[in-house]
Amino acid sequence: MNLLLAEDDAILADALNVQLRRVGFEVEHAPNGAVAEYLLLKTPFDIAILDLGLPMVDGLTVLKRLRAAKRHLPVLVLTALDSLDDRVAGLNAGADDYLTKPFDFPELEARLHALLRRGRPLTTGQALGKLNFDRGARRASVLGESLDLSPREWLLLDLLLLERDRVVTKEQIMAAWAQDRGENRGEGRNESSGGNSVEVYIHRLRRKLEGTGLQIRTVRGLGYLLEAESTSSTGGASPL
Ligand code: CA
Repeated sequence: MNLLLAEDDAILADALNVQLRRVGFEVEHAPNGAVAEYLLLKTPFDIAILDLGLPMVDGLTVLKRLRAAKRHLPVLVLTALDSLDDRVAGLNAGADDYLTKPFDFPELEARLHALLRRGRPLTTGQALGKLNFDRGARRASVLGESLDLSPREWLLLDLLLLERDRVVTKEQIMAAWAQDRGENRGEGRNESSGGNSVEVYIHRLRRKLEGTGLQIRTVRGLGYLLEAESTSSTGGASPL
């Protein structure tokens, strides 16, 4: 597991570095926010520990830029400031968990593992409802039956799964399509673009997800949300 440790307190950083390596993490250390941002955008880390009070670029700004750049790795925020306002600001900026200083290492380790467990179903082939999604193999199936998805439908499902339980906007969807088109020249060339086609693809994907226990909910004026179907309507969809 590759971990970025963004912490400007050299003594704390050294101690964490030793302890994290001892429990099996590959650690890269960033002593300030500028280095943290650079490394996070350059390297596919599995998880990051981010101090909020960092020199050059503060931790909240690093976090906001990371999320704006569509980096979805789990981020555990460290802060000496344990007031409610800071917590709320951090969570709104996209932190996945919080730890206030001082803390015990076993607590940190437990939280890191909890975050990694939460994130892992999206990167390897595991089930969500009746859907099995394997990002690496670019394959989705329902109860062993392969789902036939166009490149755009695949990207749409991938994005909804990454952001599950959060609203995905049309702009995010179109940005994901545009980015993929840049990386895979030609693929999806004949598929039209624009806000209306987002609705078309949502409609198609909804139909393909019927019976999986997952549904795409429209959040009026905001976008779309992937969530487990309520048990009342399906009589027993498993929760996400
Ligand atoms: Ca600090």
